[in-house]
Amino acid sequence: MADEPWGAKAPVVYDRLGFTVTEMEPVIGLEIHAQLKTKTKLFCSCPIEPGAEPNTNICEVCTGQPGALPRMNEKAIELAAMAGLALGSKVNSKSLFSRKNYFYPDLPNGFQTSQLDPPICQGGAMDVDTPSGPKTIRLNRIHLEDDAGKCVHDEKRGRTLVDLNRAGTPLIEIVTEPDLNSPAEAIEFLKKLHALLVRLGVTEGRMEEGEFRCDVNVSLRPKGSTELGVRGEIKNLNSFRFAGQAIEYEIKRQSALYAQGQSVLQETLHFDPAKRETRTLRTKEEAHDYRYFPQPDLPPVRVSEELLTRIRESMPASVEETNQKLLDLGLREDLVTLFMDRKGAPEYLQAAQAALPDFNDAKKLAAVMAEFLLPACQKADLPVSEAPVTPQKLAKLASLMDKGTIGRRAAQELFPLLFQTGADPEELAKEKGLIQISDKGALSAMAAEVVALHPQEVAKYRDGQEKVLSFLVGQLMRKSRGAADPKGAGQALIEAMKG
Ligand code: ADP
Ligand code: MG
Ligand code: ZN
Repeated sequence: MADEPWGAKAPVVYDRLGFTVTEMEPVIGLEIHAQLKTKTKLFCSCPIEPGAEPNTNICEVCTGQPGALPRMNEKAIELAAMAGLALGSKVNSKSLFSRKNYFYPDLPNGFQTSQLDPPICQGGAMDVDTPSGPKTIRLNRIHLEDDAGKCVHDEKRGRTLVDLNRAGTPLIEIVTEPDLNSPAEAIEFLKKLHALLVRLGVTEGRMEEGEFRCDVNVSLRPKGSTELGVRGEIKNLNSFRFAGQAIEYEIKRQSALYAQGQSVLQETLHFDPAKRETRTLRTKEEAHDYRYFPQPDLPPVRVSEELLTRIRESMPASVEETNQKLLDLGLREDLVTLFMDRKGAPEYLQAAQAALPDFNDAKKLAAVMAEFLLPACQKADLPVSEAPVTPQKLAKLASLMDKGTIGRRAAQELFPLLFQTGADPEELAKEKGLIQISDKGALSAMAAEVVALHPQEVAKYRDGQEKVLSFLVGQLMRKSRGAADPKGAGQALIEAMKG
């Protein structure tokens, strides 16, 4: 965090005469909008297709034609519930849609379909790392809602056009409690939440496309106080950096107001990344009265126990669980870190362990993966799950190496070929003459020849100069053109020198 300028300390506010110093503490709550990864919109079957020609993915429902009735997208319910399960929220078996009324040209219905009470998920929490240790950030709620269209400003001709392709796109809004106290903490939270939702497949999370964006609520209060100060709310930040900068700017703006003895107004603001400034959109006096009321065209959202079980079973293990599983397998910590960093590596290891009936040594499999498979995937820019060497073939290679049939040097030569062709390790090793000679008879015969050719070294060895053995092993390896098993070769030589 040290490189982030907004890892700022709490601001200090002096009274007007400069006598009383009050240390102020920032208080931050976030409202995060994540676009759900569904093929179609929330209440109609129009496809979701970023970059499509304006107004091509629209129908009577998502353009709010009179009499058109919404139909609920079940996948959106599942994804929202999945987010809730992953965040420890209570998933309500029954929740309701409301109409949130306001007028804007990109909102053809004249209302947003959202959830007021009860939302699909309530409560939950996520931990973030802070310089003083982990800290729990509580969640207030997660609710489902639809997105609006987009206004496109045509500066040249001084007009505004409306594109309704985005209207009706499913979103979840995740609302935190005001438990964050610095821009750095807020960024940490957003990054972790983003990574979690992307990993679960709840959202694609492309922030530059606005698929993950947030509103930040910021207030100040004297340090130690438990009451909340008046907040500013900055809308629609679509990068971690902008969120941090907006919070930082808002903290400074409010500190300056308090320092001048003025009060902070409850405001909704817009952040200008170029100027790094916030600008007022509306104050509380003009605040919207959304006149929420029940949406009569939609039945309650139902989430059964069976559905929850099915969702739980389909969810990938949490990062913590996977990490622990790898440690339990006895993997070294640096390998655990490596495997956690490489998407699909833990799953691949698990598959490799289950692939052969007579070889499932996790540590040896992990070593072969770390030495050969992971670097090859990285070089080829391939996800581990799409490696041409299947978990079964890797297990076979590891087992052959364990038996001494394929030596490490041979494996180095063999692996790139396996990776290219996806061939069977044993067959390819045979074809390329890379099978290691570990047959005792063959090794003894070669050892006898080496001993006969180097009487001086043999005499030295017998004299107690054991170092010469490695020279003799080297000679034997040369004779076998690198195919001999070095360990077996050493033993065969010792035997031969005894005779
Ligand atoms: P809305 O913004 O729609 O009125 P809420 O009042 O529920 O909704 O608050 C939205 C977000 O603002 C929540 O994340 C909440 O934690 C945060 N929040 C509310 N009051 C404050 C405050 N005084 N300071 C900082 N954050 C706040
Ligand atoms: Mg709000
Ligand atoms: Zn539609």
